[in-house]
Amino acid sequence: MLADMTEEILRVEGLKTRFFTDEGQVNAVDGVDIAIERGDTYGIVGESGSGKSVTARSIIDLIESPGEITDGRILYRNQEFADGIRDDNPDAVDGAWVDLRGVSSSVRRSLRGSNFSMIFQDPQSSFNPTITVGEQIAEAVEVQRRASANPRSTRARSKEYTLTSLALGTILPSKRYVTPASRERAIELLELVGIPDPVERADEYPHEYSGGMLQRAMIAQALAGEPDVLVADEPTTALDVTIQAQILDLLDDLQEELGMTILLITHNLGVVARMCDRVGVMYAGEIVERGTLEDVFDDHVHPYTRGLLGSVPDLEGASDRLQPIPGNVPSLLDHEMNRRCHFADRCPKAMEACLEHPSEHSARGSDHHAARCVLTRTEYDEARALADGYFDEADRPAGDKHVGPDERDETLDEDRQHPPAETTGGEHQ
Ligand code: SF4
Repeated sequence: MLADMTEEILRVEGLKTRFFTDEGQVNAVDGVDIAIERGDTYGIVGESGSGKSVTARSIIDLIESPGEITDGRILYRNQEFADGIRDDNPDAVDGAWVDLRGVSSSVRRSLRGSNFSMIFQDPQSSFNPTITVGEQIAEAVEVQRRASANPRSTRARSKEYTLTSLALGTILPSKRYVTPASRERAIELLELVGIPDPVERADEYPHEYSGGMLQRAMIAQALAGEPDVLVADEPTTALDVTIQAQILDLLDDLQEELGMTILLITHNLGVVARMCDRVGVMYAGEIVERGTLEDVFDDHVHPYTRGLLGSVPDLEGASDRLQPIPGNVPSLLDHEMNRRCHFADRCPKAMEACLEHPSEHSARGSDHHAARCVLTRTEYDEARALADGYFDEADRPAGDKHVGPDERDETLDEDRQHPPAETTGGEHQ
C-alpha cells in the first residue's frame, strides 16, 4: 500500500517528459516530484522555458508527438474512479490511488473535464470564433453528460442524462448537439463566473466579449464537468492588472465554493503570493525548491529562488534597484546539458561542489521544504567559490563543453582531476 497520504489528491513522482526533435532530445521535464493536497492551490513558478507548462500538460495527458512522458508516476486519488477500473487495471490501482501512467489512454481521456480540467492562457485562440460562447460551453456540458451516461465510461455522475437519453441521441440524432438542459447549465456557469446578463451573453460570439469576459467564459467552460483538479496555465497573463485581480478573486471564490484543487502555472510571484498554499520553483526542467508559501518566500535556500524574489519590485521598501538574474536559462537539449547544477553559471554562490549535479534535500522550515542545492547541506564557503568567468566560453573546461551524452561521465571525471587553476578567491557574494 502507498504510505498514508490522507489529504493528498495528486502526487507526481520522478516525472520525465522528453521531446524528440530534429535538433535532438529536449529534456523539458527532468524528474519532477509534486504533492498536492485536496482543496489547495499549488503554484509552479519559473521563467519561460523552465518546463512548468509541460509539467502541467503531462499531468493531464496533453503531451503530443514529438513529446513523450518517458518515466515517473502520476498518482490520482479518487475512490470511485479506482473502484471503477480496479478489475481491468489491478497493477495501476492501490487503494484509492490510481497510477495514471498504468492505465490506457482512453481511461485517462475519460478523466478530462470531469476530474481534470484546464484553463489556457489565451482565451481568444481557445474559443471557436464562429460559434456562440454559450453553445461552446453547452457543448462541454453535453460531452460530460453523454460520457457519464455511457455504460463503458468510468463516470457515473449524471442523473439527468440517462442511458435512455444516450440511446435516443444515438438513434435519433438531432441537428443540434446540445440539449436545452446543457444550454441551461451553460447559462448557470456564465452566471457563476460573474458574466452579467448571462442569458443574452450566451448568444454572443467570442469577438463580442472583452479579454476579461472571455477568460471568465473559459473558466466557465473548464467548470462544466465539475473537475476535482483545475489546472490554470498563466490564466491572467494576457489581461491588464485590474482584470487580473478580478480573475484571481474569481478563482479564489470558486475554489472555496466548489472545493476544487488548483494547480497554478505562472511566472508571476505576485500571483503565487496571493493564491498559493504550496509552491514549486522550476528551473531547467527541475523543481529546484519547494515548500509552503512561507518556506519559499521567507526562508528560501536556493539562490535561484532568491534571484526570482529579488527581481520583483518592492513597493514598500527603500528605492533599491531591482536585481535581475544575470545570464539566460540553459538549453534543455540533452547533448548541451551539463551534469553540474544547471544554475551554476548564473549562481552568485557557485562552489566546486556545484560541479556535481545536486540531489534534493530537506531544508530548514516546514516538513515540505526541500531544495536541489548544496546549500541545504553546507554553508557557502568563499574559499571554495568558483572564480568569476569560470563558465565563460574561453575558460570553460572540457567537461563543460557541449558533449554527447556518452561522453559526459568521462569529461566530468576529467574535470574533477584537473580543476581550473583559479578555483579560489572569486568575488561571489
Ligand atoms: S548547487 Fe551551487 S550553483 Fe547550484 S544553486 Fe546551489 S549554490 Fe548555486
